Amino acid sequence: MDTATGSTRACVQLDGIRLVNLALDDAVTAIECALAARQPTRIAFINADCANIAARNDSYRADIEDCDWVFVDGIGMRIAGKVMGQPVADNVNGTDLFPPLCRMLALQGRSLYLLGARHGIAAAAADWAQRHCPGLKIAGTRDGYFAAADTTAVLADIRKSAADVLLVAFGAPRQEAWIREHFADTGATVAMGIGGLFDYFADRIPRAPLWMRRAGLEWVFRLIQEPGRLWRRYLVGNLVFLARLARTRAGLTKMSSSPRSTLSNSGA
Ligand code: UDP
Repeated sequence: MDTATGSTRACVQLDGIRLVNLALDDAVTAIECALAARQPTRIAFINADCANIAARNDSYRADIEDCDWVFVDGIGMRIAGKVMGQPVADNVNGTDLFPPLCRMLALQGRSLYLLGARHGIAAAAADWAQRHCPGLKIAGTRDGYFAAADTTAVLADIRKSAADVLLVAFGAPRQEAWIREHFADTGATVAMGIGGLFDYFADRIPRAPLWMRRAGLEWVFRLIQEPGRLWRRYLVGNLVFLARLARTRAGLTKMSSSPRSTLSNSGA
């Protein structure tokens, strides 16, 4: 990936998806460079659940592949990196990226629009950001439960706000499809789909303690919080992901005598 810094970033390909393999701080710096260069940039985060969706939903896969940068999110992708011999640099998820992103935006005098989640949640997350990052400009907030007929008005509001960065919190795969379809009409330089992020920062849903996050167990915490909604995603989904990984690994082992592999690794 070439950024405004002129440097080439490390990329890996896992589960058939090309990923930008950066540490969290470097991801923030890359966004800062994209903003400075006014380089339109669509960003997605992919974890094991997203990889599962991409494996069965061609339209979502196309939306992901069409993004400028896809960051590597979560323990499942870390395991995939190890198994495939392409180590993942960091767990770059939207929730961990949000505080340093807001600090950078405040320092650079750039503005943020928060779109998505239930009524009042984006505004509460914006309050959190302004309390923790003095000087951060909030261009606007809006919930994610508007009718399709209101899309034009929502886009007009974002455009009028002149936001530099747009966060879209509709959950996957809807947010990626929405960004792909409407990014050009928002006027933002950077847009990213960030799932349930606003719910955490608005304190609607508690986040896993740091030790669980560091141990790669955030999914266990989320499962305990919302077992009815999430058991299929995590219990079934993790097994499906690991089974696909094992199949891919076995296929590669069989192909190991071949000079061509489905994996690529273009380094920095
Ligand atoms: N959401 C939304 N509009 C919708 C459906 C969902 O704004 O029509 C929001 C929902 O309120 C939540 C987020 O999208 O804040 C998705 O959260 P989820 O936990 O599914 O995402 P994850 O972080 O797991 O990707």
